[in-house]
Amino acid sequence: MMSKESGSCGKCGLCLAVCPVHRVLQEEQATPRARIQLIEAYQSGRLPSSAYLKELINRCLMCGSCAANCPSGVDHYSRFMSMRAEMAKEHGDRLEIRGLVYLLARENRLRLAVGAARLGQSLLPEAFQKKYRLGEIALRQLPALNRKPFRDEVAEEHLPEGEVRGTLLYFTGCATNHIFADTGRATLRLLTALGYRVIIPKGQTCCSIPMLYHGGIEAAKENILENVRCLDRDGVNAVIVDCPTCGGALKKEFPAMLARYGEETAPAEAIAGRVTDLLSFLYEHLDQLIPLLNTAGEAVAVTYHAPCHLKNSFTPGDRLLRALPGINFLPADNALDCCGGGGTFFYEYPEIAGTMAAAKVAGARRSGASLWLTDCPVCRINLAGRLSPDDTLSVRHPAEFLAHLLGSDRINRL
Ligand code: SF4
Ligand code: SF4
Repeated sequence: MMSKESGSCGKCGLCLAVCPVHRVLQEEQATPRARIQLIEAYQSGRLPSSAYLKELINRCLMCGSCAANCPSGVDHYSRFMSMRAEMAKEHGDRLEIRGLVYLLARENRLRLAVGAARLGQSLLPEAFQKKYRLGEIALRQLPALNRKPFRDEVAEEHLPEGEVRGTLLYFTGCATNHIFADTGRATLRLLTALGYRVIIPKGQTCCSIPMLYHGGIEAAKENILENVRCLDRDGVNAVIVDCPTCGGALKKEFPAMLARYGEETAPAEAIAGRVTDLLSFLYEHLDQLIPLLNTAGEAVAVTYHAPCHLKNSFTPGDRLLRALPGINFLPADNALDCCGGGGTFFYEYPEIAGTMAAAKVAGARRSGASLWLTDCPVCRINLAGRLSPDDTLSVRHPAEFLAHLLGSDRINRL
């Protein structure tokens, strides 16, 4: 009998239960273990490359739940990432996906594209925006893009009132920079209210995960090196992320990717040791945060969706929401389930994503909450895209809700 190396699949089947794609499709070939077998067969030359093989590999959310729950330590995430790059090289990708990788590779390209898209949002007739869709989501249901990139709107350094208790670097990611400036403003407000000096390094750029998912290895490597240069500073207490996918990239992919390509890893490892998601950081400061909150008035009925990259790399934010006063926290019975967003998955596989998102919406409605919080910008777009603009339920980043609880700003509904 052959001894089993660490990281090889024992075919126990545990990953099947946590794979959201398998849960919808109920096919063996849609399981994480099947993808691993396909990759091994391809790498050993037993299985030829084909567009169908690419399809089987790519029909995956890259949620990381399989790797996080595998008792044999199979690193699905990196193996899928390398295989996706290989498949993209051999079989190409859709024009839109290639366009996205091209834009994300350079901040100035992204700025131009966002500017053009924002013009489109203001000029395209409502009927057009209702009719045309990104996956199943009508253009009209997409969030309005920022008028100005968030990092241009704010200064690089922010000081708290009173004594400075430490220094934080804030990695905003592309979504806060170009779509959800309110999340950025709220994050700044919370961190400075806790007494921290906050630096938003100007040179930061895309975390590279969307590029890595679609084979843009070289561009991703350049972005990673650029981000490491920006975030490698002395005297910093923590690197804060408001997006769990960016957080997972800083914590795991930056050092792993640089090691794979023979680059120096020490700065990336130091950053990885300091990175934390915003809600975990706030939870660590619970005693300081609670006295800052205005808990007068009726408690807001809130529920929460745990993004996969948060639950697999950090800790879901509901532990903070449950611990704070003045919140009527109503857990959804499926809060930990994947929403089907998965970067570009909701666009590439709208039917699978639609089934997952519909189940999530039903769970949030069952909870009875009026506010649905989630930390991931793609989850937010995917979930809010399924609701009508005048829905009784609205989706926001937890930072926006918590910042509104500071001081006299308390409101009943965002
Ligand atoms: S959980 Fe790990 S060992 Fe078990 S079937 Fe899945 S990949 Fe294989
Ligand atoms: S990353 Fe997520 S969707 Fe992909 S195989 Fe693993 S559990 Fe399934």
